[in-house]
Amino acid sequence: MAAPYRRNVIAGLAGLTAFGLGMPGAWANQPAKKSIAKPTPTPPPKPKLVFLDPGHGGRDPGALGVRGTQEKVVVMAIARELQRELLVGGRYRVLLTRASDSFVALRERVARAQAAKADLFLSLHADAHPDSDVRGASVYTLSEDASDREAAALAARENRADAMVSGVRLADQPDNVARTLVAMSQRGTVNDSRRLADTIVRTFASSGVRLLPRTHRQAGFAVLTSPDIPAALVELGYLSNSQDEKLLTVRQHQIALARALRASVDAHFGAGIATRKA
Ligand SMILES: [Zn+2]
Repeated sequence: MAAPYRRNVIAGLAGLTAFGLGMPGAWANQPAKKSIAKPTPTPPPKPKLVFLDPGHGGRDPGALGVRGTQEKVVVMAIARELQRELLVGGRYRVLLTRASDSFVALRERVARAQAAKADLFLSLHADAHPDSDVRGASVYTLSEDASDREAAALAARENRADAMVSGVRLADQPDNVARTLVAMSQRGTVNDSRRLADTIVRTFASSGVRLLPRTHRQAGFAVLTSPDIPAALVELGYLSNSQDEKLLTVRQHQIALARALRASVDAHFGAGIATRKA
């Protein structure tokens, strides 16, 4: 189910209607109808809001490379490159969870994306492994277990104070409705996230980005727990491997990664539109 459709279903379920409230102010300024009606141009589609999350920052450097490269620095460089790529063409608005070398808690990153009503959340990281031969990129989405735990925690009364899911304030809902809303939304979001992750894996493969075996993995990362924003965490390579470390600091490779991710985002939203039409 595509996200906007799911949102409508969920809003409907909670007894809300988007069109129920009159907006008298909107009609007051309408000019008188001209005798010759000009064809109304179709408004351009609203740009999607993509939230980029460069991992770590500030006192948390993230993984450290053999030559001392810091994860927080390379993921920021790639996030900036991706931001530039996405802004070309006007299809997207782009916000970052951190705009500088500052520490931002994981839950705060999710909260910022939710407050801004992001359409997509992409967390960027580089990994480290005790075995220095291990190299290649991988993509994570939220595991079923973690998703269920998160849904239960969010639906619990004490966590509901300001929680909104798909435009519905959970505090206003009885327990069983809140649970159903969160579970429905989370399940749909997990499916959208998996589709996104598979798209990234395919795009990386066709762009010549080296991949780990079993590239799409599932885990309980806290930054992936938003109930209504499709999200993936991309490990762009291993800083513990000297070849990957060198590549991640080379600007040409950073641009290649950013272009592959931009193509994945394009494919994700393109496919979403195709699904809704079918
Ligand atoms: Zn990391």
